[in-house]
Amino acid sequence: MTLRLHNTLTATKDVFEPVAAGQVGMYTCGPTVWNYAHAGNLRAFLVYDLVRRHLQVSGYDVTHVMNLTDIDDRILDQAMHAGVTIGDYVKPYVAAFFEDMGALRAQPATHYPRATEHIPEMVEMISELIENQHAYIADGDVYFRIASFPTYGALSHLDRAGLRAGARIAQGGRGLGSAEPVPGGASSRIRQDKYDKESVSDFALWKKAQPDDEKLGAAWDAPFGRGRPGWHIECSAMSKRYLGVTLDIHAGGVDLMFPHHENEIAQSEAANHKQFARFWLHSEHLADATGEKMSKSAGGFTTLRDLTDAGHDPVAVRFFLLASAHYRTRLRLSTESLHAAAEQVRRLREFADRVQRSTPSDVDDGDLLRRIGEVRTGYREALDDDLNLPQGVGLVFELAREANAAMDSGRVGERSRDALLLLVDDFDAHLDIVRSEEPGLAQEVARLIAEREAARKGRDFGRADQIREELREKGIALEDSKEGVRWRRVR
Ligand code: AMP
Ligand code: ZN
Repeated sequence: MTLRLHNTLTATKDVFEPVAAGQVGMYTCGPTVWNYAHAGNLRAFLVYDLVRRHLQVSGYDVTHVMNLTDIDDRILDQAMHAGVTIGDYVKPYVAAFFEDMGALRAQPATHYPRATEHIPEMVEMISELIENQHAYIADGDVYFRIASFPTYGALSHLDRAGLRAGARIAQGGRGLGSAEPVPGGASSRIRQDKYDKESVSDFALWKKAQPDDEKLGAAWDAPFGRGRPGWHIECSAMSKRYLGVTLDIHAGGVDLMFPHHENEIAQSEAANHKQFARFWLHSEHLADATGEKMSKSAGGFTTLRDLTDAGHDPVAVRFFLLASAHYRTRLRLSTESLHAAAEQVRRLREFADRVQRSTPSDVDDGDLLRRIGEVRTGYREALDDDLNLPQGVGLVFELAREANAAMDSGRVGERSRDALLLLVDDFDAHLDIVRSEEPGLAQEVARLIAEREAARKGRDFGRADQIREELREKGIALEDSKEGVRWRRVR
């Protein structure tokens, strides 16, 4: 079987092969933790989960890196309003992100690097870019010189003339002076890039420290002056740190293709002289009920909390975001489609449960056995064809009807039952909706709680906090009670 993935770089479905046999390095653009993630962000994160899971099903060992953008203009703005440092400001949103990921059953990434914890790597890359003339200092800011990188625009298939005409758009993007308005009105720090750039489309790698940045804990020393990084450089520097200079896969939402991903390519390739990412995957948007792209800044956004408060099961939300549309088509959020997803989850769970509990009949129906084989192959082919989960799930539903009828009339023998159990494993490797709880989770949590208690007794509060954080990343919250420490799944 051959896995094909749509590669934005070539605009075709290409056969996937990693650089090192059997091993995949994947970098995915994670959340900007200035607020809760909205359902659109969650769609992107679940698409990463789908890519990751299908690579695992295909036999690859995957190193998955997802960054947390914990510094940008919006975070600085909000922290200033709240009168706290950026570190304190983002804390609850980081925690909420991990809770959401746990509730949605996304497999934890291998690494979640935070921008503010990788400033030295960024400073080093910027220094290299200045050294080799791809970047320049202008009044304490550092800009990437787009004219020095002739293939700029190759990912989004822009021509350079178009880029010049579209120069105003090129100024946008977070950390540069976003085009999106930010709550905070007149005092907003969002500003257009200054005119001391050589070219209007050059983008910031480093921004000179402003007086407020110091008290917000958002300024660092660098050979080119005290300041803070731009948004784009973090992904180039952190992907290199954890995955090396060439990534097998880089994924993100389609809105990041330009300018963010173009800028990542320019920075990384200008610094490393190697191809940055071999496969670029872009997931389409989630639209709100009115059909508009969901966006935090535009106001009308829905978080997982909103959905669970309205009574939706996170597993149904997972199914809706992952399986009701192909990742490269737009999807619209509505109460009806969430209810439909919940109903589909219920049917698949009931089917899995019925197969598991069934007693096989004495003889197997040859036709049924053949059909199960066909559907298993068809399911795998759908996933191998650029992750077409909706198509695969459609096949499963057809077969579930036939198999239910066969179970009603006692036509499911030992071999058919085993084949149906394998089919359940097949679809649940991606959907992850059948299990009610992770196997071994309770023991693992109990072990960590005991270790945390021991750490607290030994006054090692650092370790105790670290354990609480680890559990939070698994979607588990701890509560101290009279009876001792209790835990619960958050959502
Ligand atoms: P952000 O938190 O804004 O940095 O975005 C995190 C991820 O969510 C990025 O991959 C975005 O492309 C993606 N994203 C943002 N808005 C949407 C949306 N409405 N639908 C799907 N993905 C989105
Ligand atoms: Zn990125």
